[in-house]
Amino acid sequence: MSTQITFFPVGNGDMTLIELDDASQTKILIDMNIRDSADDEANEDYFDVASELRSRLKNDSKGRPYIDVFLQTHPDQDHVRGLAKHFHLGAVDDYKEPKEGEQAKIIIQEIWSSPIVWRRADKRTGHTLCEDAKDFNTEAKRRVNLYKNAKKIGEAGDRIRIIGKDEDGKTDGLEAILTEVDITFTKINERETQMVEVYVLGPLQAKDVEDEDRLSKNHSSVILQFKIAAQPYGSKTNIFLCGGDAEVAIWRELWRKHQNAPHCLSYDILLTPHHCSWHTLSEDSWSRSKNPKVDEDAKSALSQAKRYAQLIASSNVIKDDDNDPPCWGAKKEYEAIAANVSGEFVCTSTKDQEVMEITLTSGGPQKSPKRASNITLGAGLASSATPKPHG
Ligand SMILES: [Zn+2]
Repeated sequence: MSTQITFFPVGNGDMTLIELDDASQTKILIDMNIRDSADDEANEDYFDVASELRSRLKNDSKGRPYIDVFLQTHPDQDHVRGLAKHFHLGAVDDYKEPKEGEQAKIIIQEIWSSPIVWRRADKRTGHTLCEDAKDFNTEAKRRVNLYKNAKKIGEAGDRIRIIGKDEDGKTDGLEAILTEVDITFTKINERETQMVEVYVLGPLQAKDVEDEDRLSKNHSSVILQFKIAAQPYGSKTNIFLCGGDAEVAIWRELWRKHQNAPHCLSYDILLTPHHCSWHTLSEDSWSRSKNPKVDEDAKSALSQAKRYAQLIASSNVIKDDDNDPPCWGAKKEYEAIAANVSGEFVCTSTKDQEVMEITLTSGGPQKSPKRASNITLGAGLASSATPKPHG
């Protein structure tokens, strides 16, 4: 197997799998939006992303499918849908073998999640958590409490890494399972893979942001920059930036914070935040403003593309209309960022509804042949290119 990132076609939602070609064949799932035709009143046919995911997973020593890590960027339904149906929740000892005709539940060996993001999601006006999000929250709390009681890192299936310190000291005493913003970590599921560095950019603390009120009205998310090598001990030539549904106020603050060290925001692959929403780049409404303006700082934060960068919109088909997300205006902005570096902007919704696989090589990312376009990707060049300056 090669080291790769797979983007699943889940409409307006996120579901991304990082697979490492290390000794453990480590798998990191970022969000999920597993819709089910059987659950849908309109009875729409959805691409079977669950089977695509399962076909990429390995079984543990007891024959149960598992992922090493599930990163939950924030608790919106389009980032956690399908959790209870497809994943085992609760103690691993209580795992039930599937009955005939059922699929085995997938074990999540380690969770990555942020308490701040959950608190803000609760606060946002009119926002109630969906059932999958509530189930996730229960599972995350179970794992935190296990640590609190035992004061040691749990076994696979009981582990959690808290991303970002909570406000008001609520994460005090949890330092061993907490990774703060601005920290880089290399341990994945209690193993040093020698292939990945993960830099925590967000969620931002309220004290770092000029206007806390704006922050809580924006979508907050875990924001991570992954530096990934193709092989153990290789150079980390593939940089992947993902930030869930983080919106304009957050990207603006990230630029102000990091503009003197813009490599903190650089990428070879960007999952364009919030399904190519205009509100990642602008405070104005796309449909109601006569002349909606781009926030230059937010755009700079999202413009640190390296040569031949891939900008991926995980969204519905993007049309030239008033819709948002995905938004035609945002697509045009991201296309301009891609054009500046001879890169490419692509949307996960295609006629064929295929998964999009990008192989991570020692020469940078390469699209897998079945989705290859005419654009030549930057073998050997991706790692030497410098990010574009502000503007
Ligand atoms: Zn979303």
